[in-house]
Amino acid sequence: MQQVLLEGPKSIKTSEASIPSPSAGEVLVEIKATAICGTDVHIYAGGVPVDYPRVPGHEAAGVIQETGSEVSAFQTGDAVVINPNLYCNHCERCITGKENICGQTLLMGRETDGVLRQYLSVPQTHVFKLPSHISFAEGALLQPLSTVVHAQRLAAIRPSDSVAVLGQGASGLLHTRLSKLSGAFPVIGIGRSQWKLDLAKQMEADYVVSAATEDPVARVRELTDDQGADVVIEAVGTPETFQQALEMTKPGGRLISFGISTQPLPSLNLLQMYLKEANLIFPRAMTRSDFRRTVDLVASKRVDLKSLITQEYALEDAAHAFKFAEEEQSKVLRVVLRP
Ligand SMILES: [Zn+2]
Ligand SMILES: [Zn+2]
Repeated sequence: MQQVLLEGPKSIKTSEASIPSPSAGEVLVEIKATAICGTDVHIYAGGVPVDYPRVPGHEAAGVIQETGSEVSAFQTGDAVVINPNLYCNHCERCITGKENICGQTLLMGRETDGVLRQYLSVPQTHVFKLPSHISFAEGALLQPLSTVVHAQRLAAIRPSDSVAVLGQGASGLLHTRLSKLSGAFPVIGIGRSQWKLDLAKQMEADYVVSAATEDPVARVRELTDDQGADVVIEAVGTPETFQQALEMTKPGGRLISFGISTQPLPSLNLLQMYLKEANLIFPRAMTRSDFRRTVDLVASKRVDLKSLITQEYALEDAAHAFKFAEEEQSKVLRVVLRP
């Protein structure tokens, strides 16, 4: 089978490997579509150290081709999506349903080999059946959606809440959509590219704000009777947007730090946070339960994943796909690769 290898920063090649055979509790998945996100591009560019060579990628869907002897819940031919977060299954956090913060957590494509290949064996606990109307490319986007579902669960948005979402990349757009589904009003989508703001409107944002032409903090205040938003979701991941998010959070409100900056904040005004009694939440990845809920959510057809797919490449063009995703960030929501 063909697989993609990251041999060093920005050095991608495809190589041949043997098809793995599933152990007793595993299923062999023929990968039909994968998607690459900001995390993958960051790893590609060398921003996150990994052991080379590494098979990149963690967003994938496919079809089960073989099941291990202890697998009974799945059959050959089942269309599935893969949960790429592996954990120990034994520690206190794992057994209390907080496996996303297990100390032994491994992400496929980062600490262990990823999904950019034709076949992959995964534990049966890490696949979920795809609803029949969902394509494989959309199925690959269930993983990022599940991280948004997890964050929204921690944010506990109510119909009386106002929400501002800073950044309208794929995750930001999904936050905008899910905030609307929670009944919030107004939901304010903030971004820099007009085409992404148009998509935010399509996702039913009540207002969109162009950070390229307006001061987002002043505009959010204006749209919320000078109060700020009850919930602010920072989905960019820069110190500057984090500061803006803090400034547009209503006193007593919740700030969800979703787009994590790898650079430390130059300063954090603790007095400002204290005076506001601001609640700061750092959601991490997702749990199996969030993944299960995500599958049910897309089965209800209330979330459009199709419009998040902006480019498609064949797996053997992975080098071009990563180069494009890195250099043309403003044109990309999700790049899909098909084996
Ligand atoms: Zn991702
Ligand atoms: Zn654990």
